[in-house]
Amino acid sequence: MKAWFAIPLWQRVIGALILGIIVGYLWGPGAESIKIIGDIFIAFIKMLVVPLIFFSLVAGVASIGDLRKLGDVGWRALLLFVVTGQLAVWLGLGLGTILQPGSGLDASGMQLDAAALERAQERQSDGVTIEQMVLEMVPSSPVQVMADVNVLPLIVFSLLIGVGILMAKEEGGPVLKIFESGSIVMQKVTMVVMELTPFGVFALMAWVAGTLGLDALAALGQLVALNYVGCLLIIGLIYGGMIKFIARLPVIDFFRGIVDAIAVSYSTASSNATLPVTLRCAQRNLGISNSVSSFVISLGATINMNGTAMYLGLATLFGAQVFGVELGLAEYVTISILGTLGAIGAAGIPGAGLIMMVLVFSAVGVPLETIALVAGVDRIMDMMRTTTNVSGDAAVATTVASMTNEIDRAEMISADDV
Ligand code: ASP
Repeated sequence: MKAWFAIPLWQRVIGALILGIIVGYLWGPGAESIKIIGDIFIAFIKMLVVPLIFFSLVAGVASIGDLRKLGDVGWRALLLFVVTGQLAVWLGLGLGTILQPGSGLDASGMQLDAAALERAQERQSDGVTIEQMVLEMVPSSPVQVMADVNVLPLIVFSLLIGVGILMAKEEGGPVLKIFESGSIVMQKVTMVVMELTPFGVFALMAWVAGTLGLDALAALGQLVALNYVGCLLIIGLIYGGMIKFIARLPVIDFFRGIVDAIAVSYSTASSNATLPVTLRCAQRNLGISNSVSSFVISLGATINMNGTAMYLGLATLFGAQVFGVELGLAEYVTISILGTLGAIGAAGIPGAGLIMMVLVFSAVGVPLETIALVAGVDRIMDMMRTTTNVSGDAAVATTVASMTNEIDRAEMISADDV
């Protein structure tokens, strides 16, 4: 027991990840039987999401101190979200155009996932429109929003309460105290739940490695490989560049500080479920102030999804190539805009990117059958997109914190007891 706790958590998590893959591979589909352990882990972290966002975002906004400073942090974060999102979509479009992952595939011989197609068609008839996405952001009933774990409107509500406290000045003090103290308590609860991470990660990895047949991977191998290449380029070049040249911090220390978040995002394929872990990494290992990290990372977990944006670009070209749809420059521009919006609108849950394809495909005439085609291997791609999304939140938070002097550089560099 003592020996177990003596190993730093991130090392236990990485060990569990590798062991999970090996066990799953040897065990085969039977590994599904231990998925329940992973589900329990996810349920525990999900439990944290609503109270954590609510307490820490309100406290984060209110403790920034004044509205002008909130604006300073806010516009920088939003700008970085949009710029990196655009770069990511165009990277996906570039990879898809040059390497043509769908051109050698004959769709007629491939198995379609009928259930995925049905869901996509249903979603299309519901109309995934931009108007609807905007309307869904308004927290018309805050309690309902919390009960449904509907993160985007919850963020809007928390931001407004935070702004209200700032406007109330001294009179808002007692309410601010409640949120600050609640946020500290939630961080402690997160620490306890984090101890389950190695077990959850092990079970989820064994399940994925055991159930996802190699045959499915082989047929769609090019798309899967390009998805990984695109995500790694985003992480290495865009985030690495941002940390080195804009934040002016050591890139290796940055990635070392977010190892837990990387492992949890990869195994759960959910930005929302990873949120408590990302926040903890940002505050404890990267030395980012509570106010900036709570604000930027909670917001980013929902709207900053560069892996998803890249994938939407890539998958649209894949579908166009498989089904022989011609796309010109105008369509590319449409894809880049809708890809970024789709990534903003996608919920931070497994498979959300797949549903957002409906928005982009419908606009440029790519058949929805593409969704049914890729659904079988979506999970393995989703894991990498989610890791990209989550690393992006940490990278933007670090950069904004560095620009606004809200980072303790010494703490980031000495993050030994991760
Ligand atoms: N699963 C991803 C996330 O939570 C979203 C997606 O499906 O692309 O970030």
